[in-house]
Formats: sequence, structure tokens, C-alpha cells
Amino acid sequence: MSDLTVAVDIGGTKFAVGLVEPDGRVVAAERAATPRGADAETLWRTLTDLLDRLDVPAALAGVGVGCGGPMTWPEGEVSPLNMGGWRGFPLRARLAERFPGVPVRIHNDAICLAVAEHWRGAGRGSAAMLGMVVSTGVGGGLILGGRLIDGGTGNAGHIGHVVVDPGGPPCGCGGNGCLEAIARGPGLAAWALAQGWSPGEAVTEGGLYREEGKATARQLAADAAAGDPIALAAMARAGRALGIAIASAVNLCDLDLVTVGGGLSQAGDLLFAPLEEALLEHTRMGFAGRVRVVPAALGQDAGLVGAAALVIAGDRYWSPSL
Ligand SMILES: [Zn+2]
Repeated sequence: MSDLTVAVDIGGTKFAVGLVEPDGRVVAAERAATPRGADAETLWRTLTDLLDRLDVPAALAGVGVGCGGPMTWPEGEVSPLNMGGWRGFPLRARLAERFPGVPVRIHNDAICLAVAEHWRGAGRGSAAMLGMVVSTGVGGGLILGGRLIDGGTGNAGHIGHVVVDPGGPPCGCGGNGCLEAIARGPGLAAWALAQGWSPGEAVTEGGLYREEGKATARQLAADAAAGDPIALAAMARAGRALGIAIASAVNLCDLDLVTVGGGLSQAGDLLFAPLEEALLEHTRMGFAGRVRVVPAALGQDAGLVGAAALVIAGDRYWSPSL
């Protein structure tokens, strides 16, 4: 009987699969770029080709999967926003056919990242934690009483759609002024461009980061570090929106820790200082003042670690009977 778990991480930019030890160590991993505009079976084949490259033992502990939402949960029919080929694709059922006789468990990719930070990262030992990721979107997962909170339909933790400015920009969800509408990388870069930002101009040759003048959040963070005033204002704008949303979550859930991962969190104090300032402003009750906001600790394997935890540490991170 093997103790290994197969982990699968399906995202808009890459697919990753891995074998994970009971202690959370990823002992083998394979990755491929998400095929653009691919149909359902091409996407499935991309995944199975990766799985074929793993030396999967005959006996497995199970299969854990993180996938971009939305999805039906826990059944795992997935319709990732940025992957048009999968609409109601029965990802969990297909994997269960391929790996018969073991549990196959699936959750939202942002939730898996939160679980990873709680299980093996910056959130170890926290009883009340929000794990956030700020990249193309803004997502999160909520841990209360040391356990993952699923909510009624598996969607608890959607901090990206907490409203931080009712008069703010339109959001992909159909609403207005959501945290995600302001702080998601592309939204923030678009805002900076509209203010007159010239990507890469503030970074000298051989400087921190210069990507051929591309308007990415990473370039924006580098330009802010190089002192570009518009880029700095963009970081302050995102940090402030994050601080307001986090304050609401802290007041509602009595959190002791918030982890922030994703590209923008690399900006360090340029992001975290305005975040802390807004957080302080909006957490005036004594209990709320004890929350700590820290960068996520795990790197590119975090998605695999969190997916595996749905199986390995299912007592804390998995509630359904599936
Ligand atoms: Zn929204």
C-alpha cells in the first residue's frame, strides 16, 4: 500500500500534476502551459499526458484536485472562467474513472492555496485564518476552528467579491467595486495606464525587472520599487482596497491571520504598508487589532500541496461524503 497522493492543479496559465508524500513533500511534478482556445477533449488530453509522465504507484492514497471556478461542488463539474473548452466538464468523474477505488476530491484553486498555507505554510497552527491570492483574479479560502469552511455550496472565502467601493469599477462577476475589480493585476495595470503610466520607464537597464514595456502587474510592482509615482499610487490603491476587504473579513470572522500570495504580494512594503494603514482604520474593535497579515510562504508547488491536503489531511480540509 502506497502512501502517495496524486495532486492536480488546473489553472488558466498552467496545468500541474504531482506525487505528494504524507508529510506534504512534492516528490515529482510535471507542468504544461494551458492550451489556448482548446476544446474539452484536448484539455483532458493535456492533463492525461502529464499524468502519464508520473510514475504513479499501483496503490494510491487518493487524488486531490484544485481547479479554477466556478464548479459544482463536491461533484466537480468544472467551468473555469478562462478555459472556455470546459463548461460543465465532469473533471472529478473522469479522474475517478482513471483512478478507481480511491477518493478523488476537488476544490476551488484559491481554496487549495489557502489550505496549503494553513497545512504547510505561513498559516500553520492558526485557528482562524483567511488565505488570499492576488493575481489575475483575487480569491481566498477560510479556515475557522482549524478547519476549512466550505459554506453552503463550497464557495465560502470569495474575498475577491467583497465590495470595497460601491462606486468603483465594474467587476467580472457583474457587480461593481469588488476587491477583485480594483486589485486584480490586469485591472490595476489598466488603471495605471489610464493615469499615464509608461511600463518599464522607471526601471533602468539591468534594473530589477523590465519586460519590454509590457503593462503587467509584475512590471507595475518593479516600477513602483524604482520610484515611479503612478506605479506607487497603483500599489497604494491596491493595498488600500485589500486592507478594507481584509478588515471586513476580520470583523466578521475574528481572524488571527491573513496570508497574501500571488504576483502582487511580491511588491512587499509598497503594497503591505497601505494595506496595514487601511486595515487599522477599519478594525477599531479590540479583538480585531490582533490580526497579522503576512505574505504566503509556499512557492509554485502550493497548488499541488493544497490539492493533496484534501486527501492527506481530509479530517481538517474535507467535509463532504464524496
Ligand atoms: Zn465581483
